[in-house]
Amino acid sequence: MDSEELELRREIIAQCRWMNANALNQGTSGNISARCRDRMLITPSAVPYDDMTPEMIAAMPLDRATDEWQGPLKPSTEWRFHRDILRARPDGAAVVHTHANYCTILAIARKSIPAIHYMIAAFGGPEIRCAPYARYGTQALSDNVLVALENRNGCLLANHGMITVGSSLPKAMWLANELECLARQYYHSLLIGTPFILPDQEIAEVMESFKSYGLQDKKD
Ligand code: 13P
Ligand code: ZN
Repeated sequence: MDSEELELRREIIAQCRWMNANALNQGTSGNISARCRDRMLITPSAVPYDDMTPEMIAAMPLDRATDEWQGPLKPSTEWRFHRDILRARPDGAAVVHTHANYCTILAIARKSIPAIHYMIAAFGGPEIRCAPYARYGTQALSDNVLVALENRNGCLLANHGMITVGSSLPKAMWLANELECLARQYYHSLLIGTPFILPDQEIAEVMESFKSYGLQDKKD
């Protein structure tokens, strides 16, 4: 393993610990992957993040749709959607999956998030979709996720959680935090009345203005 790969493995573990410390996930739920040239590095299944070391991170090929893996421990049970997202999205460098509370509450109600705040533009459009339910770890779940992520950097998973994809690992985690924030705002705005939804044209214009705002640069 070269120093670049070792650094990426350390970064994956640091981000796992950060997401649990910041209420974006709990326990051994959730998983993270990152592109490392023509392979995917992915967290092992069911290992507490405080016990995780760089050698425990599993590696899988990305140049073909295969279930082959390398490592001392099995890759996350969600390796299918991590692999399929990174293969479908050459712009994506990392995928974060968490069971963040407010995202999961909305996903239990099978609600997508509409344009309740202009920050939804960071996700590539006026709505964050909720992927239909399929059991964790299945190809059916991965297929549903790919549809929900079309032209988007994030989605909810019915009765499960959320996923973000970023052009770097810090960007994917930044999006995960923003997504949970939008979910919390939407949940609470539903409690006090009927939220006003911003028009699609407004979100299209905010997306345009974000190009010069520096959101991309700051988090890459
Ligand atoms: P793993 O521990 O296998 O990564 O599974 C956690 C999870 O969130 C499944 O959806
Ligand atoms: Zn999960």
